Amino acid sequence: KLYNEVQDLKGNIRVYCRIRPFLSGQSAKQTTIQYIGENGELVVVNPLKPGKDNHRLFKFNKVFSPAATQEEVFRDTQPLIRSVLDGYNVCIFAYGQTGSGKTYTMSGPNVTSVVDWGVNYRALNDLFNISQTRRSSIAYEIGVQMVEIYNEQVRDLLCNDTFQKRLGIWNTSQPNGLAVPDASLHPVKSTADVLELMNIGLMNRAVGATALNERSSRSHSILTVHVRGTDLETNAILRGCLHLVDLAGSERVDRSEATGDRLREAQHINKSLSALGDVIFALAQKSSHVPYRNSKLTQVLQSSLGGQAKTLMFVQLNPDVESYSETISTLKFAERVS
Ligand code: ADP
Ligand code: MG
Repeated sequence: KLYNEVQDLKGNIRVYCRIRPFLSGQSAKQTTIQYIGENGELVVVNPLKPGKDNHRLFKFNKVFSPAATQEEVFRDTQPLIRSVLDGYNVCIFAYGQTGSGKTYTMSGPNVTSVVDWGVNYRALNDLFNISQTRRSSIAYEIGVQMVEIYNEQVRDLLCNDTFQKRLGIWNTSQPNGLAVPDASLHPVKSTADVLELMNIGLMNRAVGATALNERSSRSHSILTVHVRGTDLETNAILRGCLHLVDLAGSERVDRSEATGDRLREAQHINKSLSALGDVIFALAQKSSHVPYRNSKLTQVLQSSLGGQAKTLMFVQLNPDVESYSETISTLKFAERVS
């Protein structure tokens, strides 16, 4: 079966590291990436502090170099995504400082160009293709939700009502349930439907924000894909769910500089990212207590973290020497959960 390769992992948690390239005009800068191994090894170095102990080795399930294409990244993600059609819950998220390529990996830089498509468009495209062509004995229905978590409040990005109530989070005692029952669920039949919905989501995300990029780096956005399959012979129902998460930027905010709203945002981000780290750490340790309730993020994702669910984290790095300390802190987060 397609998904066997991801089943023997410790707690079904897999971690991929992706290093973004230097952007044009940036080529003169120094890199912190010294070595990328075939088997997921990564050596980072601080070129400004030469010496024996300025190297650090990290190990992942896979490291994607700056040259890796969107297609290559997707190829290693596809088996996990396809397992949703077999009734698995899957959570894929991108973690890293602002500017490290989280949105590039999850959505891509430009929706209109198919080669640039990130994981989420490719995932839906693949789910449509497989469900329509290869599995004729099961009738699949696919629906999507898109929410944003900002300052510990969940907002529906696919509902045009600006005065919408704060969304409640369902206590997911049932496996495969809707994690955010109040968020609108939109049936989709084609990739074109998805593109249209995601454009609405992106526009709604910008409402009330000074600039889209500003706001999007301080909130988590979650695209949830619900799959329901009906076996045409037995009428048995199968459900699977895929969460695709573009997390808020993980950068540390200088407490002496941030005040008011900015400080509050930073505290919420910090709290939710560490809650996420704690949950994944507990799962990786096979701990009997998993602290899902400590943040909205982990509550929303609960049904696809732990149990039979499969989790993939993209650890995103900016290779720039100026990002060295953020890079180390991102890698430490990843090291703890992998
Ligand atoms: P984040 O969402 O983490 O803040 P972005 O995805 O917006 O970061 O990436 C920052 C910039 O780097 C964008 O201009 C993006 O297009 C570019 N970028 C990121 N990753 C890549 C990549 N793998 N190849 C080319 N450009 C990239
Ligand atoms: Mg982003």
